[in-house]
Amino acid sequence: MTHFKKIQLVSFVSIFAFAGFASGQQNAGMKPEETEIWTPVPAVVTPGATDAAPPSDAIVLFDGKSLDQWVNAQTGAPAEWIVGDGILTVKKGPGIGNIQTKRTFKNYQLHVEWRIPENITGSGQARGNSGVFLASTGPNDDGYELQVLDSYNNLTYVNGQAGAIYKENPPLVNPNRKPGEWQTYNIVWTAPTFNEDGSLKSPAYVTAFMNGVLVQNHFQLIGQTLFIGKPYYKKYDRAPIKLQAHGDKSEPISFRNIWVRELP
Ligand code: MG
Repeated sequence: MTHFKKIQLVSFVSIFAFAGFASGQQNAGMKPEETEIWTPVPAVVTPGATDAAPPSDAIVLFDGKSLDQWVNAQTGAPAEWIVGDGILTVKKGPGIGNIQTKRTFKNYQLHVEWRIPENITGSGQARGNSGVFLASTGPNDDGYELQVLDSYNNLTYVNGQAGAIYKENPPLVNPNRKPGEWQTYNIVWTAPTFNEDGSLKSPAYVTAFMNGVLVQNHFQLIGQTLFIGKPYYKKYDRAPIKLQAHGDKSEPISFRNIWVRELP
């Protein structure tokens, strides 16, 4: 060790020791009350009967009965997907396409349940492909997609399997259930923010649990999730949540019990 390095090490150690001593000294003579925070009081929220049921402050986006909260993402006309037996099924066909919420959101907690049909056919990206677009930034934009796909036993690129932030980040693990069984997503979305000139102020983050298992841990998005090309950010303020009617030929998937809680 050189003389210079020795001096650096000695001063680092003494500064560190002094800092510890100083903060301990600062606390001497303090009362417990001095570190208690009493206001503002967190709002009381009644939890649902199960973790899947909407809590008292949730906005229910699909309650099993109506598509009142949704529109055709392309045209803004009433959403045409099929509602029956308490579930919502993707309707594929010319001019139908994706649906999105009438409401717009910034930061939120979202609960979505989805089911791949038991008789699903196809392979790779053409096997039960759908998606939850965490922010739908325009009818022709890709937005920010958390992938929905049959990934129970279906090989595809890992950043395109269920639980992936599409083409940006694979899920941490694969907790997929078999086709025919209901699966849950619990998502925390922190929206990106932008400067006046459109440049990025703070990136988007997502945390997601699939079937109760962490698949995205505060992942920092690189930009919009694109089918082709590298992700980039595009300024928006508030945006709807969108569900994908993918153009693949496999049997349409279903959703149920969709609710959201807006976050500050
Ligand atoms: Mg998709």
